[in-house]
Amino acid sequence: MATYYNENTVLYLNGEFVKASEAKIDLYGQSLHYGYAVFEGIRSYKTVNGKTKIFKEVEHFERLKKSALALNLPYSYNTQELIDATYQVLEKNNIQDAYIRPLVFAPANMSFSKNTESYITIEAWQMQPFLGEKLLRVMTSSFERPNPKGFKIEAKAAGHYVNSILASQEAKEKGYDEALLNDMNGNIAEAPGANVFFEKDGKLFTPATGNILPGITRATVIEICKELDIPVEEKQFKTAELKQADAAFFCGTAAEVIGWESLDGSTFKKNWNDSLGKLIQDAYKARVIETPMLKEALI
Ligand code: PMP
Repeated sequence: MATYYNENTVLYLNGEFVKASEAKIDLYGQSLHYGYAVFEGIRSYKTVNGKTKIFKEVEHFERLKKSALALNLPYSYNTQELIDATYQVLEKNNIQDAYIRPLVFAPANMSFSKNTESYITIEAWQMQPFLGEKLLRVMTSSFERPNPKGFKIEAKAAGHYVNSILASQEAKEKGYDEALLNDMNGNIAEAPGANVFFEKDGKLFTPATGNILPGITRATVIEICKELDIPVEEKQFKTAELKQADAAFFCGTAAEVIGWESLDGSTFKKNWNDSLGKLIQDAYKARVIETPMLKEALI
């Protein structure tokens, strides 16, 4: 098991900075028992000028708020205050390349009724940037993503991740690196914790919103495509079409941009290093550490 904290680690809890080893939560609440909580997954990077930069921090904290409101969790936090608190957590723990995990959770209340308040914690731990360089062997999951008529699928809600855990564990048990889940209509949706793109004939495709978590990295990839004049289209598609792709990749805050080796054992026509995904991976890496990356240098 990874080590997330030691006796010196500090986290943010309801407006205060406390030692992780001394922080307490209530065990009589809907978050622990029913998965009724919302969270974010954010990264910070040591930039080329040596400073710490939280990537797309406003977008992440705004999504946290939207997720909380979608679930009727009281939300009285201010984005800028939370960003400032996060920088302080990083500084107090002396980390720059970090994974940051804010979590909004419910107070003691074991019924299904609305809460009058919520709690928030922000935890951070060291994470090396650009770890996942190895191409992924992906498996079509036997699990579907949650039905958007049963869940607020666009919210990053804790309970949704039981589905992610099942799919990811299944894929690893079968000897693959990661799962790919369909939506309830049999269209490709996303990975347990990342969005998907594929390349075909010089163009990129990604599942349209509605049955996925619309990732901040997905939006960044689309931005990069615009800058690099790479055509990109959001649409519904199925496994058969994906298997005919020239190349494919996942993207997400933790995964960053990571290429595929195969889907259900079938490989892709293009070498990853010659694919549009590789260009985007390089542009993404440059962007998070704030390297000015010229289009000419990429193409
Ligand atoms: N889909 C799911 C289910 C996720 O958990 C994540 C990770 N937050 C993503 C997509 C990618 O989102 P982002 O790029 O905002 O990290």
